[in-house]
Amino acid sequence: MSADCIFCKIVSGTIPSKKIYEDEDVIAFNDINPSAKVHFLIVPKSHIDSLATCELQDQALLGKMLLLAPKLAKEQGLAGFKTLINTGVEGGQEVFHIHLHVLGGGNKMPKSLA
Ligand code: AMP
Ligand code: ZN
Repeated sequence: MSADCIFCKIVSGTIPSKKIYEDEDVIAFNDINPSAKVHFLIVPKSHIDSLATCELQDQALLGKMLLLAPKLAKEQGLAGFKTLINTGVEGGQEVFHIHLHVLGGGNKMPKSLA
């Protein structure tokens, strides 16, 4: 837990979220400012700043996050989806608690990430 981290506060329940999944390692909740009809975030419960600070010990957790994406996307009614991990300020990361974006559906989907 990192005291000033908004996603740690969501994990602990201090800040509310529209949760769609939770287990002992991760939670998933709807993005507050969606970029597609369906846009949720898969977030580890333990605080890791970003993909750039992950280590070998995080390999299983990262794999779990990726494997959850198609399962939850299907549950949300998506036939296909995009995944995104913004890393670092120059990579567009705004919340420094690693998270996997899953987006799909509707016509708000960006065609590219350029
Ligand atoms: P990133 O730029 O990859 O760090 O993305 C951060 C994402 O977190 C953005 O898409 C925000 O809309 C989303 N976000 C920020 N605060 C909240 C919140 N309280 N609940 C849900 N999503 C949030
Ligand atoms: Zn955190």
